[in-house]
Amino acid sequence: MEEIFLQEGQHFLIRARFIFHHEGPPLIDGAVEIRDKNIVNLGPYRNLKREASRAKFIDSEDCVILPILVNSHVHLELSPLRFRIHPSGKFTLWLRQLLKKRSQLSPIEIRESSKIALRELLNEGTGLVGEVTNTALTLDILREAPLCAYIFQEILSFQGSPSLNELKDQEPCIRITYSAHSPYTVSPLAIQAIKSYNQKRKKIFCIHCAESPEEIEFLKDGTGHIANLLKERGRWSDNFVPPGTSPVKYLDTLGVLNQNTLLIHCVHLRDEDFEILSTKNVWVCLCPRSNLYTGVGLPDLPRFLKYKIKLVLGTDSLASNDRLSIFEEIRTLLNFYPQVSALTLLEMATLNGAKLFGFENQLTLKKGSLANFLVLSPPTFTSDQPEEVLRSLILSERKIEYRFYAH
Ligand SMILES: [Zn+2]
Repeated sequence: MEEIFLQEGQHFLIRARFIFHHEGPPLIDGAVEIRDKNIVNLGPYRNLKREASRAKFIDSEDCVILPILVNSHVHLELSPLRFRIHPSGKFTLWLRQLLKKRSQLSPIEIRESSKIALRELLNEGTGLVGEVTNTALTLDILREAPLCAYIFQEILSFQGSPSLNELKDQEPCIRITYSAHSPYTVSPLAIQAIKSYNQKRKKIFCIHCAESPEEIEFLKDGTGHIANLLKERGRWSDNFVPPGTSPVKYLDTLGVLNQNTLLIHCVHLRDEDFEILSTKNVWVCLCPRSNLYTGVGLPDLPRFLKYKIKLVLGTDSLASNDRLSIFEEIRTLLNFYPQVSALTLLEMATLNGAKLFGFENQLTLKKGSLANFLVLSPPTFTSDQPEEVLRSLILSERKIEYRFYAH
Protein backbone atom coordinates (compact mmCIF):
# COMPACT_ATOMS: atom_id res chain seq x y z
CA MET A 1 0.00 0.00 0.00
CA GLU A 2 1.38 3.39 -0.98
CA GLU A 3 0.44 6.02 1.60
CA ILE A 4 -0.01 9.57 0.32
CA PHE A 5 -0.04 12.20 3.08
CA LEU A 6 -1.59 15.25 1.45
CA GLN A 7 -0.16 18.71 2.06
CA GLU A 8 -1.51 22.24 1.57
CA GLY A 9 -0.92 23.48 -1.97
CA GLN A 10 -1.06 20.05 -3.61
CA HIS A 11 -3.33 19.36 -6.57
CA PHE A 12 -4.20 15.79 -7.62
CA LEU A 13 -6.53 14.16 -10.12
CA ILE A 14 -7.14 10.44 -9.59
CA ARG A 15 -8.98 8.41 -12.20
CA ALA A 16 -10.58 5.02 -11.47
CA ARG A 17 -12.88 2.59 -13.23
CA PHE A 18 -15.36 2.68 -10.32
CA ILE A 19 -15.87 5.20 -7.53
CA PHE A 20 -18.16 4.31 -4.63
CA HIS A 21 -18.83 7.66 -2.97
CA HIS A 22 -21.42 9.47 -0.83
CA GLU A 23 -22.94 11.94 -3.31
CA GLY A 24 -25.09 9.48 -5.25
CA PRO A 25 -24.86 6.33 -7.36
CA PRO A 26 -21.37 4.90 -7.99
CA LEU A 27 -19.43 6.44 -10.89
CA ILE A 28 -18.08 4.40 -13.78
CA ASP A 29 -14.83 5.80 -15.22
CA GLY A 30 -14.79 8.57 -12.65
CA ALA A 31 -12.23 10.91 -11.17
CA VAL A 32 -11.57 12.68 -7.87
CA GLU A 33 -9.89 16.08 -7.85
CA ILE A 34 -8.04 17.07 -4.66
CA ARG A 35 -6.76 20.53 -3.83
CA ASP A 36 -5.28 21.56 -0.48
CA LYS A 37 -6.30 18.24 1.15
CA ASN A 38 -9.95 18.68 0.13
CA ILE A 39 -12.06 16.93 -2.46
CA VAL A 40 -12.99 19.80 -4.79
CA ASN A 41 -14.55 17.72 -7.57
CA LEU A 42 -15.95 14.28 -8.06
CA GLY A 43 -17.50 13.15 -11.31
CA PRO A 44 -17.11 11.40 -14.67
CA TYR A 45 -13.49 11.50 -15.87
CA ARG A 46 -14.55 13.07 -19.19
CA ASN A 47 -15.81 16.14 -17.26
CA LEU A 48 -12.71 16.45 -15.11
CA LYS A 49 -9.96 15.47 -17.54
CA ARG A 50 -9.01 19.03 -18.48
CA GLU A 51 -7.55 19.22 -14.95
CA ALA A 52 -5.25 16.28 -15.74
CA SER A 53 -2.65 18.52 -17.38
CA ARG A 54 -2.53 20.91 -14.41
CA ALA A 55 -2.81 18.47 -11.50
CA LYS A 56 -0.57 15.58 -10.57
CA PHE A 57 -2.47 12.89 -12.46
CA ILE A 58 -2.80 9.34 -11.13
CA ASP A 59 -4.48 7.10 -13.67
CA SER A 60 -5.39 4.08 -11.60
CA GLU A 61 -6.98 2.45 -14.66
CA ASP A 62 -9.12 -0.48 -13.57
CA CYS A 63 -8.86 0.29 -9.84
CA VAL A 64 -11.78 1.02 -7.56
CA ILE A 65 -12.02 4.00 -5.20
CA LEU A 66 -13.76 3.46 -1.87
CA PRO A 67 -14.40 5.73 1.11
CA ILE A 68 -12.21 5.29 4.17
CA LEU A 69 -13.58 2.73 6.67
CA VAL A 70 -14.93 3.19 10.17
CA ASN A 71 -14.24 0.51 12.77
CA SER A 72 -16.86 1.52 15.32
CA HIS A 73 -15.83 -0.82 18.11
CA VAL A 74 -12.35 -1.89 19.19
CA HIS A 75 -10.41 -2.28 22.44
CA LEU A 76 -6.81 -1.70 21.31
CA GLU A 77 -5.47 -2.37 24.77
CA LEU A 78 -6.49 -6.03 24.49
CA SER A 79 -4.21 -6.49 21.47
CA PRO A 80 -1.53 -8.49 23.37
CA LEU A 81 -4.16 -11.22 23.79
CA ARG A 82 -4.22 -12.02 20.08
CA PHE A 83 -4.05 -15.84 19.64
CA ARG A 84 -3.77 -16.24 23.42
CA ILE A 85 -7.48 -16.78 24.03
CA HIS A 86 -9.11 -19.76 22.35
CA PRO A 87 -12.27 -19.38 20.30
CA SER A 88 -15.07 -20.67 22.44
CA GLY A 89 -18.40 -22.41 22.11
CA LYS A 90 -19.52 -20.66 25.26
CA PHE A 91 -19.30 -16.97 26.14
CA THR A 92 -18.43 -17.36 29.82
CA LEU A 93 -15.58 -19.76 29.00
CA TRP A 94 -14.15 -17.08 26.71
CA LEU A 95 -14.75 -14.41 29.39
CA ARG A 96 -12.96 -16.42 32.07
CA GLN A 97 -9.90 -16.81 29.82
CA LEU A 98 -9.98 -13.07 29.09
CA LEU A 99 -10.16 -12.02 32.74
CA LYS A 100 -7.30 -14.34 33.70
CA LYS A 101 -4.93 -13.41 30.88
CA ARG A 102 -5.71 -9.68 30.94
CA SER A 103 -4.69 -9.47 34.59
CA GLN A 104 -1.20 -10.71 33.62
CA LEU A 105 -0.48 -7.98 31.05
CA SER A 106 2.09 -5.27 31.73
CA PRO A 107 1.66 -1.65 30.57
CA ILE A 108 4.65 -2.01 28.21
CA GLU A 109 3.11 -5.07 26.59
CA ILE A 110 -0.20 -3.25 26.19
CA ARG A 111 1.45 -0.18 24.63
CA GLU A 112 3.67 -2.10 22.21
CA SER A 113 0.90 -4.43 21.05
CA SER A 114 -1.51 -1.52 20.66
CA LYS A 115 0.98 0.27 18.38
CA ILE A 116 1.22 -2.82 16.17
CA ALA A 117 -2.57 -3.13 16.15
CA LEU A 118 -2.90 0.52 15.19
CA ARG A 119 -0.63 -0.07 12.19
CA GLU A 120 -2.89 -2.95 11.25
CA LEU A 121 -5.96 -0.68 11.46
CA LEU A 122 -4.29 1.77 9.06
CA ASN A 123 -3.27 -1.03 6.67
CA GLU A 124 -6.87 -2.24 6.68
CA GLY A 125 -8.10 1.16 5.50
CA THR A 126 -9.48 2.45 8.80
CA GLY A 127 -9.94 6.22 9.15
CA LEU A 128 -11.95 6.31 12.38
CA VAL A 129 -12.13 4.04 15.41
CA GLY A 130 -14.56 3.78 18.28
CA GLU A 131 -12.02 2.80 20.93
CA VAL A 132 -12.93 1.49 24.38
CA THR A 133 -10.30 1.69 27.11
CA ASN A 134 -10.09 0.81 30.78
CA THR A 135 -6.42 1.69 31.27
CA ALA A 136 -6.14 4.91 29.19
CA LEU A 137 -2.85 3.47 27.84
CA THR A 138 -4.01 3.82 24.22
CA LEU A 139 -4.85 7.55 24.41
CA ASP A 140 -1.42 8.87 23.42
CA ILE A 141 -1.05 6.28 20.66
CA LEU A 142 -4.33 7.40 19.10
CA ARG A 143 -3.55 11.11 19.55
CA GLU A 144 -0.38 10.72 17.50
CA ALA A 145 -1.95 8.54 14.79
CA PRO A 146 -3.19 9.76 11.39
CA LEU A 147 -6.79 8.78 12.03
CA CYS A 148 -9.81 10.00 13.98
CA ALA A 149 -10.93 8.37 17.21
CA TYR A 150 -13.94 8.45 19.48
CA ILE A 151 -12.55 7.19 22.77
CA PHE A 152 -14.72 5.67 25.47
CA GLN A 153 -13.29 5.49 28.94
CA GLU A 154 -15.19 2.43 30.10
CA ILE A 155 -16.72 2.12 33.57
CA LEU A 156 -17.26 -1.22 35.31
CA SER A 157 -19.12 -0.62 38.54
CA PHE A 158 -21.75 -3.00 39.82
CA GLN A 159 -21.67 -1.60 43.34
CA GLY A 160 -22.84 2.01 43.37
CA SER A 161 -22.33 5.04 41.17
CA PRO A 162 -18.93 6.28 39.94
CA SER A 163 -17.70 9.88 40.09
CA LEU A 164 -17.21 11.17 36.55
CA ASN A 165 -14.57 13.87 36.22
CA GLU A 166 -14.80 16.14 33.19
CA LEU A 167 -13.08 14.69 30.10
CA LYS A 168 -12.09 17.38 27.62
CA ASP A 169 -11.69 17.05 23.84
CA GLN A 170 -8.34 18.59 22.94
CA GLU A 171 -7.71 17.67 19.31
CA PRO A 172 -10.11 18.13 16.39
CA CYS A 173 -9.93 14.45 15.44
CA ILE A 174 -10.23 12.97 18.92
CA ARG A 175 -13.34 12.91 21.12
CA ILE A 176 -13.38 11.38 24.55
CA THR A 177 -16.13 10.38 26.94
CA TYR A 178 -17.30 7.68 29.37
CA SER A 179 -19.08 4.45 28.48
CA ALA A 180 -20.66 1.65 30.51
CA HIS A 181 -19.37 -1.89 30.02
CA SER A 182 -22.64 -3.84 30.12
CA PRO A 183 -25.98 -4.28 31.91
CA TYR A 184 -24.43 -7.12 33.94
CA THR A 185 -21.29 -5.29 35.15
CA VAL A 186 -22.61 -1.76 35.75
CA SER A 187 -25.34 -0.91 38.26
CA PRO A 188 -28.56 0.71 37.03
CA LEU A 189 -27.69 3.96 38.84
CA ALA A 190 -24.26 4.06 37.24
CA ILE A 191 -25.70 3.34 33.78
CA GLN A 192 -28.05 6.31 34.21
CA ALA A 193 -25.26 8.55 35.53
CA ILE A 194 -23.02 7.74 32.53
CA LYS A 195 -25.87 8.33 30.08
CA SER A 196 -26.69 11.62 31.78
CA TYR A 197 -23.03 12.75 31.57
CA ASN A 198 -23.04 12.03 27.83
CA GLN A 199 -26.47 13.49 27.14
CA LYS A 200 -25.52 16.83 28.74
CA ARG A 201 -22.42 17.03 26.54
CA LYS A 202 -24.09 15.74 23.35
CA LYS A 203 -21.77 12.72 23.39
CA ILE A 204 -22.46 9.14 22.43
CA PHE A 205 -23.43 6.76 25.23
CA CYS A 206 -22.05 3.30 24.45
CA ILE A 207 -22.69 -0.07 26.15
CA HIS A 208 -22.30 -3.76 25.22
CA CYS A 209 -25.80 -5.26 25.12
CA ALA A 210 -27.54 -8.60 24.51
CA GLU A 211 -24.28 -10.28 23.54
CA SER A 212 -24.74 -13.77 25.03
CA PRO A 213 -27.45 -16.18 26.24
CA GLU A 214 -25.80 -15.96 29.68
CA GLU A 215 -26.53 -12.20 29.80
CA ILE A 216 -30.19 -12.86 28.93
CA GLU A 217 -30.43 -15.44 31.72
CA PHE A 218 -28.76 -13.16 34.27
CA LEU A 219 -31.11 -10.22 33.65
CA LYS A 220 -34.12 -12.50 33.65
CA ASP A 221 -33.61 -13.99 37.10
CA GLY A 222 -30.16 -13.06 38.44
CA THR A 223 -28.74 -16.58 38.13
CA GLY A 224 -26.38 -18.59 35.92
CA HIS A 225 -22.72 -18.31 34.92
CA ILE A 226 -22.59 -14.50 35.05
CA ALA A 227 -24.02 -14.41 38.59
CA ASN A 228 -21.46 -17.03 39.65
CA LEU A 229 -18.63 -15.06 38.07
CA LEU A 230 -19.65 -11.79 39.78
CA LYS A 231 -19.82 -13.58 43.15
CA GLU A 232 -16.46 -15.31 42.67
CA ARG A 233 -14.82 -11.98 41.84
CA GLY A 234 -16.41 -10.14 44.75
CA ARG A 235 -18.36 -7.88 42.40
CA TRP A 236 -21.85 -9.04 43.33
CA SER A 237 -24.20 -6.51 44.86
CA ASP A 238 -27.06 -7.59 47.13
CA ASN A 239 -28.88 -4.42 46.05
CA PHE A 240 -29.23 -5.68 42.49
CA VAL A 241 -32.77 -6.75 41.65
CA PRO A 242 -32.91 -8.66 38.34
CA PRO A 243 -35.24 -6.69 36.05
CA GLY A 244 -36.82 -9.89 34.69
CA THR A 245 -36.72 -8.49 31.14
CA SER A 246 -34.46 -8.51 28.08
CA PRO A 247 -31.31 -6.31 28.12
CA VAL A 248 -32.81 -3.89 25.59
CA LYS A 249 -36.07 -3.57 27.52
CA TYR A 250 -34.08 -3.09 30.74
CA LEU A 251 -32.01 -0.24 29.24
CA ASP A 252 -35.19 1.30 27.87
CA THR A 253 -36.77 1.17 31.33
CA LEU A 254 -33.68 2.98 32.68
CA GLY A 255 -34.38 5.72 30.11
CA VAL A 256 -30.98 5.54 28.38
CA LEU A 257 -32.02 4.65 24.82
CA ASN A 258 -32.17 7.45 22.24
CA GLN A 259 -30.49 8.66 19.02
CA ASN A 260 -27.21 9.24 20.91
CA THR A 261 -27.00 5.69 22.25
CA LEU A 262 -24.78 3.02 20.70
CA LEU A 263 -25.40 -0.61 21.64
CA ILE A 264 -22.63 -3.08 20.86
CA HIS A 265 -23.49 -6.61 19.64
CA CYS A 266 -27.29 -7.09 20.08
CA VAL A 267 -27.09 -10.76 19.07
CA HIS A 268 -29.95 -12.03 21.25
CA LEU A 269 -33.03 -9.91 20.63
CA ARG A 270 -36.78 -10.54 20.64
CA ASP A 271 -39.27 -8.87 18.30
CA GLU A 272 -40.15 -6.39 21.03
CA ASP A 273 -36.47 -5.41 21.32
CA PHE A 274 -36.23 -4.66 17.60
CA GLU A 275 -39.32 -2.48 17.93
CA ILE A 276 -37.81 -0.56 20.87
CA LEU A 277 -34.51 0.01 19.02
CA SER A 278 -36.36 1.25 15.97
CA THR A 279 -38.73 3.54 17.91
CA LYS A 280 -35.92 5.00 20.03
CA ASN A 281 -33.70 5.52 16.96
CA VAL A 282 -30.77 3.76 18.65
CA TRP A 283 -27.48 2.92 16.88
CA VAL A 284 -26.29 -0.69 16.90
CA CYS A 285 -22.75 -1.87 16.21
CA LEU A 286 -22.48 -5.40 14.83
CA CYS A 287 -19.24 -7.34 15.44
CA PRO A 288 -20.01 -10.63 13.68
CA ARG A 289 -16.55 -12.20 13.74
CA SER A 290 -16.17 -11.50 17.46
CA ASN A 291 -19.59 -13.10 18.04
CA LEU A 292 -18.49 -16.23 16.20
CA TYR A 293 -15.23 -16.29 18.19
CA THR A 294 -16.95 -16.08 21.58
CA GLY A 295 -19.57 -18.63 20.52
CA VAL A 296 -22.67 -16.48 20.98
CA GLY A 297 -24.06 -16.79 17.43
CA LEU A 298 -24.56 -14.13 14.78
CA PRO A 299 -26.67 -10.95 14.83
CA ASP A 300 -29.86 -11.20 12.77
CA LEU A 301 -28.80 -8.70 10.10
CA PRO A 302 -31.86 -9.12 7.82
CA ARG A 303 -34.16 -8.40 10.77
CA PHE A 304 -32.17 -5.26 11.71
CA LEU A 305 -32.55 -4.06 8.13
CA LYS A 306 -36.26 -4.88 8.10
CA TYR A 307 -36.73 -2.70 11.19
CA LYS A 308 -34.55 0.04 9.59
CA ILE A 309 -32.25 0.18 12.61
CA LYS A 310 -29.13 2.37 12.21
CA LEU A 311 -26.15 0.01 11.92
CA VAL A 312 -22.37 0.32 12.06
CA LEU A 313 -19.64 -2.34 12.09
CA GLY A 314 -16.81 -3.15 14.48
CA THR A 315 -14.18 -5.82 14.91
CA ASP A 316 -14.15 -5.75 18.71
CA SER A 317 -10.73 -6.57 20.17
CA LEU A 318 -7.99 -9.02 19.23
CA ALA A 319 -9.06 -11.03 22.29
CA SER A 320 -12.11 -12.13 20.29
CA ASN A 321 -10.95 -11.70 16.70
CA ASP A 322 -7.85 -12.61 14.69
CA ARG A 323 -7.94 -9.45 12.55
CA LEU A 324 -8.88 -5.78 12.82
CA SER A 325 -10.39 -5.71 9.36
CA ILE A 326 -13.75 -4.18 8.56
CA PHE A 327 -13.51 -5.69 5.06
CA GLU A 328 -13.35 -9.09 6.76
CA GLU A 329 -16.45 -8.28 8.85
CA ILE A 330 -18.31 -7.34 5.65
CA ARG A 331 -17.10 -10.55 3.97
CA THR A 332 -18.38 -12.61 6.90
CA LEU A 333 -21.80 -10.96 6.74
CA LEU A 334 -21.95 -11.40 2.95
CA ASN A 335 -21.14 -15.09 3.35
CA PHE A 336 -23.79 -15.69 6.00
CA TYR A 337 -26.40 -13.35 4.53
CA PRO A 338 -25.88 -13.40 0.73
CA GLN A 339 -29.29 -11.76 0.24
CA VAL A 340 -28.01 -8.54 1.88
CA SER A 341 -26.62 -5.86 -0.47
CA ALA A 342 -22.85 -5.20 -0.40
CA LEU A 343 -23.67 -1.51 -0.99
CA THR A 344 -25.70 -1.47 2.25
CA LEU A 345 -22.80 -3.05 4.14
CA LEU A 346 -20.33 -0.53 2.72
CA GLU A 347 -22.61 2.30 3.88
CA MET A 348 -22.67 0.80 7.39
CA ALA A 349 -18.86 0.68 7.35
CA THR A 350 -18.37 4.23 6.07
CA LEU A 351 -21.11 6.89 6.05
CA ASN A 352 -23.03 5.51 9.06
CA GLY A 353 -19.93 5.42 11.25
CA ALA A 354 -18.92 8.93 10.18
CA LYS A 355 -22.43 10.21 11.03
CA LEU A 356 -22.63 8.36 14.34
CA PHE A 357 -19.37 9.86 15.62
CA GLY A 358 -19.80 13.27 13.95
CA PHE A 359 -16.84 13.12 11.53
CA GLU A 360 -18.69 13.50 8.24
CA ASN A 361 -16.46 16.30 6.96
CA GLN A 362 -13.31 14.30 7.56
CA LEU A 363 -14.41 10.88 6.37
CA THR A 364 -17.14 10.93 3.75
CA LEU A 365 -16.23 10.70 0.08
CA LYS A 366 -17.92 13.77 -1.34
CA LYS A 367 -17.15 17.26 -2.60
CA GLY A 368 -16.04 19.54 0.25
CA SER A 369 -14.79 16.75 2.53
CA LEU A 370 -11.18 16.10 3.44
CA ALA A 371 -9.58 13.67 0.99
CA ASN A 372 -9.34 10.49 3.06
CA PHE A 373 -10.03 7.51 0.81
CA LEU A 374 -8.76 4.21 -0.59
CA VAL A 375 -7.82 2.97 -4.06
CA LEU A 376 -8.16 -0.81 -4.37
CA SER A 377 -6.77 -3.12 -7.05
CA PRO A 378 -9.50 -4.32 -9.41
CA PRO A 379 -11.59 -7.46 -9.02
CA THR A 380 -12.31 -9.64 -12.04
CA PHE A 381 -15.02 -7.57 -13.67
CA THR A 382 -17.85 -9.80 -14.85
CA SER A 383 -20.38 -6.99 -14.88
CA ASP A 384 -20.60 -3.21 -14.64
CA GLN A 385 -23.39 -3.43 -12.06
CA PRO A 386 -22.12 -1.59 -8.93
CA GLU A 387 -23.53 -4.22 -6.55
CA GLU A 388 -21.73 -7.01 -8.42
CA VAL A 389 -18.47 -5.06 -8.70
CA LEU A 390 -18.44 -4.25 -4.99
CA ARG A 391 -19.37 -7.78 -3.95
CA SER A 392 -16.64 -9.31 -6.07
CA LEU A 393 -14.14 -6.67 -4.86
CA ILE A 394 -14.82 -7.50 -1.22
CA LEU A 395 -15.18 -11.25 -1.55
CA SER A 396 -11.94 -11.55 -3.53
CA GLU A 397 -10.02 -9.52 -0.89
CA ARG A 398 -8.36 -7.01 -3.20
CA LYS A 399 -5.27 -5.13 -2.11
CA ILE A 400 -5.32 -1.45 -1.11
CA GLU A 401 -3.00 0.19 -3.68
CA TYR A 402 -3.14 3.77 -2.38
CA ARG A 403 -4.36 5.34 0.79
CA PHE A 404 -4.87 9.12 0.79
CA TYR A 405 -4.52 10.86 4.16
CA ALA A 406 -5.75 14.39 4.77
CA HIS A 407 -5.22 14.48 8.50
ZN1 LIG B 1 -16.27 -4.83 23.09
